[in-house]
Amino acid sequence: MSSVSASQTNSVALGSIDRSELNVCLRPRTLIRAALTSVIVCAAVPIAALICLIAGCIALGACLILIVVLVAASYGFVPVGGVLLALAIFNQERRELFAVSGIGVGILGFHLSTVFSPWFNPIRDTANLAFAACQQVADFLYTDIFVGLYIYVWSWSVLLGALLAAAAVLVTVWVLSHEAQIKRTLLRIRYTCPAADCTYQGVPYFRCPECSTVLGDLKPTIFGVLHVRCGQCREHLLPTCDLMGRLQLEKQCPQCSVDLEHPAFGRLGEMHVVFAGASSSGKSNLMISAIRDLERAVAPAYGLRVQFTNDAEEQEFRNRCAQMDEGRVQEKTTSSANPAAFNLSIENRRGKGALMYVYDTDGSDFETEDRLLGHAFHEYTKGIVLVIDPFAERGVVSKLGLSGNGKLTPVSRQR
Ligand SMILES: [Zn+2]
Ligand SMILES: [Zn+2]
Repeated sequence: MSSVSASQTNSVALGSIDRSELNVCLRPRTLIRAALTSVIVCAAVPIAALICLIAGCIALGACLILIVVLVAASYGFVPVGGVLLALAIFNQERRELFAVSGIGVGILGFHLSTVFSPWFNPIRDTANLAFAACQQVADFLYTDIFVGLYIYVWSWSVLLGALLAAAAVLVTVWVLSHEAQIKRTLLRIRYTCPAADCTYQGVPYFRCPECSTVLGDLKPTIFGVLHVRCGQCREHLLPTCDLMGRLQLEKQCPQCSVDLEHPAFGRLGEMHVVFAGASSSGKSNLMISAIRDLERAVAPAYGLRVQFTNDAEEQEFRNRCAQMDEGRVQEKTTSSANPAAFNLSIENRRGKGALMYVYDTDGSDFETEDRLLGHAFHEYTKGIVLVIDPFAERGVVSKLGLSGNGKLTPVSRQR
């Protein structure tokens, strides 16, 4: 239809989604942090137990050192006193001095030993007690907590969770990237471009609502599973699949750049119907009549809603209806490998229905096999309305007595 082929086209340069950062679950630093967390959680309790043991050893060592110091302080003066007395024997000049000093140091040592001796056992007991307490705490931490509560197993759940999340992201990307194939198989949604001479079928390009950049790769990727930022403005979070609302964005055909405006495009299953027949057999008239009856009679009777792609296409249809009502012949359909289609949706109140592509083919296309083979839409056409004009057949004309001036002559009068 001229309305479809005249749809607005957009020549904005093709853009891309933001590919600067991977999905948070797939980033190396996320996995490294998860691994470090697991290692820290796993090692924390054994390290705490080890620290307790070391603390016990330090306490034990400190007590032992203290005992050694006290022993030295207690009995160390006795040999000093003995040495001084020996010097008093051999040194005539300072005998008195060494003797007095030796006796004094001996008395001091004896006194200190009587003072410090009672401390030895309490210090030793304290050292043993501290070491035993530290050992007990360390044993509790390692045996009851680390082993008993399976911390050595559960601590790795952080890393395992991160790896599972990364795997889930990859699986989700893979599943959602097949959304178009699933919709094509189960719902008959092929994303067929309705423009004349365009044979494109597939996921269209989408336009960023923020900067109007046409994005050719708006789909689930490792850079964005459900949503991704526009690579141009990096502001708008765009849905990556139809399930998340991608179809709400403006769409453009990758092949012919026509805007794909119909609100049911990609949402309703497609139904392709072809009006075929010889030249001047009345295909266009029948097609317009059929759509008009569908809109005026069938749809209201069954509670259906018929909607055209846009106002321009609907106006084109109204003009052709008026043209037909006035008795004027429809313009001859031009030959095309992929004729333009009237695009109209038929929906019930629950939003269920179909997106119809009604093709008006040129009769001359059926005269040669090569041109007919060029009609790719026959591969997925659901129905062909074959229009035959009986009055174009010479045998019928002669039997009916259709005269050269186009008026019927009763057979009885011919006889
Ligand atoms: Zn943008
Ligand atoms: Zn197209």
